Amino acid sequence: MSFSSLGLQAELLNILDASGYETPTPIQQAAIPSVLVSDDVMAGAQTGTGKTAAFALPLIQRIITSKKANREIRVLVLTPTRELAQQVHQSFERYSENLQLNTVVAYGGASINPQLSALNKGCDILVATPGRLLELVIKELIDLSNLETLVLDEADRTLDMGFITDINRILKRLPDSIQTLFFSATFNDDVFALSKTMLNQPKLIEVSQRNATAAKIEQRFYEVDNSRKAALTAFLIGANNWHQVLIFTRTKQTVDDLAKELKKDGISAAAVHGDKSQGARDRGLEDFKAGNVRVLVATDVAARGLDIEQLQYVINYELPYNAEDYIHRIGRTGRAGNTGLAISLVSHKEKYLLADVEKLTSEHFLLQWQEGFEPNPDAVEPAKNNKRKPSKKNLRAQALGQKSSKIARSSGSRRR
Ligand code: AMP
Repeated sequence: MSFSSLGLQAELLNILDASGYETPTPIQQAAIPSVLVSDDVMAGAQTGTGKTAAFALPLIQRIITSKKANREIRVLVLTPTRELAQQVHQSFERYSENLQLNTVVAYGGASINPQLSALNKGCDILVATPGRLLELVIKELIDLSNLETLVLDEADRTLDMGFITDINRILKRLPDSIQTLFFSATFNDDVFALSKTMLNQPKLIEVSQRNATAAKIEQRFYEVDNSRKAALTAFLIGANNWHQVLIFTRTKQTVDDLAKELKKDGISAAAVHGDKSQGARDRGLEDFKAGNVRVLVATDVAARGLDIEQLQYVINYELPYNAEDYIHRIGRTGRAGNTGLAISLVSHKEKYLLADVEKLTSEHFLLQWQEGFEPNPDAVEPAKNNKRKPSKKNLRAQALGQKSSKIARSSGSRRR
């Protein structure tokens, strides 16, 4: 199948040619024709499968084939994180090169002024995070009355991060009959519930098994004591001579501690998490992408925004409290058909999180030991007289520095 058979026009075909895209990916094959005819779409696809082009290409085509006299915001893409907003913005710019379209990106944690001046120059496509968008809308700094399409990218994460109130407030200010597209790597009950209120007879597109992990990623699980995780990480990177490794931890503190430890072992590392300034986060990502540092240690905030075609290694230093995050994390490797290796370090206490991952992916994983880093059987804590495990939501909230999932949602604390 070719891009032209999907109804894309010459201007876009030339750009795809220049990008080296020869054939549309399955999600692109399924979504592009529907988006072109203004259908609502609910699409689930594995990460790294070309989701962004699946909505960006047809939306760009719709704008250029029905140009308006005045520039107005016709497409709004909402993303859960700043990093993803930046990435989607870059993709729109790439796919609309020389087509005289303006795409603007707006996200919190950065000054609003440059974003406003970009908007004031005229904007066809706005990519934004919900909080900043709401600020722009409430202060009446933007006009969304001519909006034609709303895209909710990574809809599950957007809801998971507690943006539902913002989303509902934004929805109230949008025109009634707009096209709405839901794109998400995973779907859960919250997403389905929201889709019912937002989507009108949506075209359901599922190009791969729901919640499946990308097929070309080898997944390896090492059982190791918590106290030996940093040493095992340094050993794996050093002994295998890995040069671009993305490491996920659950907490900001662990990100900083591990980056320091690795540096002590002679492994250059950048750290990215929600307490870092936007400048520091951008620099960390750029240094990592450029290969100036060997390792990027990050909380889950980096899981959505990072697109490095050749990224081969991902290490889950700690398993996430939310099993769906596991899929997003390892989806940073094995992108665009490349192979990847995802390693998870699992302490005794984290075995119940591994069970969650197995349940979600319908796979069974063997825990292996690395010679020299075998878990110490004496270090296993005896079960405490049936004490109830804290809920995973609250553990996650604690890990992110929030008070509890309930409070976090209502106080609007969303930084990771
Ligand atoms: P996404 O899932 O949108 O993050 O895209 C993942 C990666 O696949 C990006 O690096 C895209 O540039 C790349 N990509 C998207 N569509 C195609 C295609 N049809 N052929 C080759 N690469 C693609």
